[in-house]
Amino acid sequence: MTRALITGGAGFLGSHLCELFLERGHEVICIDNFITGNPANIQHLIGREGFSFVKYDVTNYIHIVIASTSEVYGDPLVHPQKEDYWGNVNPVGPRGVYDEAKRFAEAMTMAYHRFHGVETRIVRIFNTYGPRMRIKDGRVVPAFISQALRNEPLTVFGDGSQTRSFCFVTDLIEGIYRLLMSDEVNPTNIGNPNEMTVLQFAQEIKRLTGSSAPIEFRPLPEDDPKIRRPDITKARTLLHWEPVVPLEEGLAKTIDYFRRVL
Ligand code: UDP
Repeated sequence: MTRALITGGAGFLGSHLCELFLERGHEVICIDNFITGNPANIQHLIGREGFSFVKYDVTNYIHIVIASTSEVYGDPLVHPQKEDYWGNVNPVGPRGVYDEAKRFAEAMTMAYHRFHGVETRIVRIFNTYGPRMRIKDGRVVPAFISQALRNEPLTVFGDGSQTRSFCFVTDLIEGIYRLLMSDEVNPTNIGNPNEMTVLQFAQEIKRLTGSSAPIEFRPLPEDDPKIRRPDITKARTLLHWEPVVPLEEGLAKTIDYFRRVL
């Protein structure tokens, strides 16, 4: 069994990745500096055989593979997004630093692979939700659920017609695991192709929480992608992977989690 080094291992996705690797018999070294990660996310893993934790800031240099994002596609002009689409990113917009950093990270990864022969994988992660998301990270899932549970207005940005496709965390983690175990070097989309508008999503959260909170419209942030949906043909064919958790089931688990931590 291999040893897995998981950076950001105390974060939302990282902690779920740690669990899956341990479950499948790997040794896991989790690195986090708790800037956004939370010790509570890995508390249950401390002391477990094969698990070790190192408090470290990865910006101090470390040799690893990193995760990419659907943000590399920017505000896409091609829909749904396939891996061979190069994207439509505004380099000087408010999302520019994040988007370009991830694009540069992909470029670096490929350069290390091509020039130094480093074994690398690039996963393009689309919108993901589930237990252990940070309540105040500004993302739509924790925002809407916490607003609904507190009976505060659900803040829909713009007219809510922009679309996203939400993947439950266990599906995403399984996809990442299969990609890491494969020998595919080129970027691979992992996400759920079930696309909906943000307004529909707000209504769904209201229905599942049984909340009577109103929906309020707020200005749309600059460069907010208008559409996003992964084309997962590649993951389906290559990894025999596709999401299996229906939105309603995943949201019920996520809502349970937020009820406990709120
Ligand atoms: N959004 C919203 N209300 C909120 C937070 C987000 O309407 O309180 C919208 C946001 O404008 C975007 C979508 O929900 O269109 C997803 O936003 P998020 O930040 O979760 O992810 P990303 O934009 O990176 O896909």
